[in-house]
Amino acid sequence: MAAKRAKTKKIFVGSVPIGGGSPIAVQSMTKTDTRDIKATLRQIRALKRAGCEIVRLAVPDMEAAEALGGIIRSCPLPVIADIHFDWRLALKAVSQGASGLRINPGNIGAKWKLAEVVTSLKDKGIPLRVGVNAGSLEKDLLRKYGHPSAQALIESAERHISMLEDMGFYNIKVSLKASNVPSTVEACRIFSKRHRHPLHVGVSEAGPLFSGLIKSSVGLGILLSEGIGDTVRVSLTANPVKEVRAAYQILRSLNLRERGVEIISCPTCGRCGINLIGLVAKVEKRLMHEKKPMTVAVMGCAVNGPGEAREADIGIAAAKGMGLLFKGGKVIKKVKEKDLLDELIREAERL
Ligand code: SF4
Repeated sequence: MAAKRAKTKKIFVGSVPIGGGSPIAVQSMTKTDTRDIKATLRQIRALKRAGCEIVRLAVPDMEAAEALGGIIRSCPLPVIADIHFDWRLALKAVSQGASGLRINPGNIGAKWKLAEVVTSLKDKGIPLRVGVNAGSLEKDLLRKYGHPSAQALIESAERHISMLEDMGFYNIKVSLKASNVPSTVEACRIFSKRHRHPLHVGVSEAGPLFSGLIKSSVGLGILLSEGIGDTVRVSLTANPVKEVRAAYQILRSLNLRERGVEIISCPTCGRCGINLIGLVAKVEKRLMHEKKPMTVAVMGCAVNGPGEAREADIGIAAAKGMGLLFKGGKVIKKVKEKDLLDELIREAERL
């Protein structure tokens, strides 16, 4: 069981609460060209269907900042504008209706520029994420620590937080990310002990689907199980819908959020009498968009199958050329192998 959640302040990104014991919010980032309003909205709607609660968009130039207004008017999710270097893009994003900004105050330039951004955020009651990333640490910190260590990430965050608090701005969320899992974990652990700002957690540039899922699961799994983290983003070199599904899977594994289908399936072995691997892939695909929380078991034989399947809301235990369909702990019917998929899905949809 996950540890008690670390105490953090509650802030809001649009209507989504972050921190202060709120449900851990799932977010992702679009991978379209933000200037392409139609394609970006299409991706945001797909993310929303998968359960995404906050979406972040890159705003690399003024054209992208201007496109934000058109996106936000039709957007089903609160939008965070991700901005680097140019404070004018931040001001434009706020005026276009962004629900939050992600910047590194340190790379916005002169203090007066940051002060203008802070004033616009205060006027609209919008939060800012201090997004510290190992890949863009200040040069003096890299010189001091020799590499982007956890201490370097924390010092960078604390420096940025002080700049904001000196301006009377406290509507802050923080992330400390590296592609190295131990550094990310250590930085978040130390930060969480010292501060009450809500934490956005994730492993940065985690990689392609397979290795990225593992790195993210290890990093987020450690932090979340210690009660650290108020919102998550799984970062994958893949369709962002997969990031959202992975985030829910991680949260569900720790009993922190419930959404959609958890599939229990055996690894198969010489006792398995059907093509279970193919069947599980089909079950997963058919139930992918189901929002109702449910546990579906797909087991390869009667040795462990019925025992495990009984724990699930619904399940099957296969035998040679057929399977037993369980529901609520009771066998409800014997089904031929060719009908197993449809029968299982039909019963799952009835739950
Ligand atoms: S449930 Fe049966 S088929 Fe699956 S791994 Fe266990 S013994 Fe093998």
